[in-house]
Amino acid sequence: MTEHNVIIIGSGPAGLTAAIYAARGQLNPLVIEGYQAGGQLMLTSEVENYPGFKDGIMGPDLMIEFRAQAERFGATFITKDVTKVDLSGETKKVWVEDDLYTTRAVIISTGASANLLGLKNESRLMGRGVSTCATCDGFFFRDKSIAVAGGGDSAMEEGTFLTRFANKVYIIHRRDEFRASKIMVQKAIDNPKIEFILDTVVDDVLGDGKVTGLQLRNVKSGQMTGLDVEGFFVAIGHTPNTKLFAGQVDMDEQGYILTVSDKHSLSATSTPGVFACGDVQDSRYRQAITAAGSGCQAALDAEHYLESLGEGAELELEAVA
Ligand code: NAP
Repeated sequence: MTEHNVIIIGSGPAGLTAAIYAARGQLNPLVIEGYQAGGQLMLTSEVENYPGFKDGIMGPDLMIEFRAQAERFGATFITKDVTKVDLSGETKKVWVEDDLYTTRAVIISTGASANLLGLKNESRLMGRGVSTCATCDGFFFRDKSIAVAGGGDSAMEEGTFLTRFANKVYIIHRRDEFRASKIMVQKAIDNPKIEFILDTVVDDVLGDGKVTGLQLRNVKSGQMTGLDVEGFFVAIGHTPNTKLFAGQVDMDEQGYILTVSDKHSLSATSTPGVFACGDVQDSRYRQAITAAGSGCQAALDAEHYLESLGEGAELELEAVA
C-alpha cells in the first residue's frame, strides 16, 4: 500500500486551497472530497466579496475553478466520505468504507453544516417546502409566500435572495435585535417584498405532503398565530463537521477544532501531523477568503512537518518530483 504524504479531508475553499499548495509543493495530495464536494459555496448564489472577481462569481463556479486548479497540479480526488480515522502515531490511517489509506500528514477541512430548529415536522417536510439552502431551492417558490428563520447574515442574505422568486418573504427572528451586520439588515428592510416578524419563534411546520404554513409563537406575549407560507428556509447558523475526529484532536465546547497558534504554525492541531483549516476550526470569520487563506497555511505547515520528519519524507519528495 502506498503511504501518502498528505491526505486532505474536505473540499471547500480551505481544503482545495490546501490541495493547490500541497500539489504545487510536489506532495501529491490525495483529497477525499466527500459526497457533498465543494463545501458551503456550492449552496450559495453570487459571491461578491471574493477578491479577483470584480463582477462577482457564482459560488459553485468558484469551487469548480478551485478544484480544476488543484487537479492541474496533480492533486487526486476520491468523491466519497471518510468513514473512520486513526490519527495517532506517525502513520495516520484514513478509511473510506472498507478501503484504508495511510499518510504521514492529514489536513482536516470538513467545514460546518446548517443547523435545524429541531421541530416535529421540520425534517419530515425537508425537501417538501423546508430547506436550508435558498440558492438550491429558491427557484421552486416562484410567486409564492415563504418564511426564513434567523437573525444573522445568512437569514438576511437568504431572505433578500429569495425575493427574486417569491412574492413575499417573512423573516422570523426570536429577538428584536439582529446578529446580522447593519448593512445586510438595512438591505432587507429596504426590500418591499420582505416583512419582519420579531420576538417570534416557529413552533412547528404545518402541512401533510408539503408545507402549507407555520405555527408561530410570540415569545413576549405568548400569543400563537398561524402563517400561510409554502416554503420555509432555516438559516440559524452552523455546526462544525468534526464527529469523525472526536477524541483524536482537541476541540472547543462547540466542536470546532482547536489550532495551535505559535510562530511555527497557525494550523497545527493538538495531534502531531494533523492540521486543520477553514470553518472546521473557525467559528468567527467563516468567509471563503479566510478559509482559503487558512488552507494555504495548513499546506505549508504540513510541508514543514513532513520536512521535519527527515530522510523518509525527503526520499518520497524526490521520488515524486
Ligand atoms: P449566526 O450569525 O450564528 O446567526 C444565527 C441566527 O439564528 C441568530 O440570529 C440566532 O438568534 C438565530 N438562531 C440560532 N438558533 C436558533 C433557534 N434555535 N431558534 C431561533 N433562532 C435561532 O449564523 P449565520 O447567519 O449563518 O452567520 C454565520 C457567519 O457567517 C457569521 O459570521 C456571518 O457574518 C457570516 N455570513 C456572512 C455573509 C456575508 O457576508 N455575505 C453571509 C452569510 C453569513 P440570536 O441572534 O438570538 O442568537
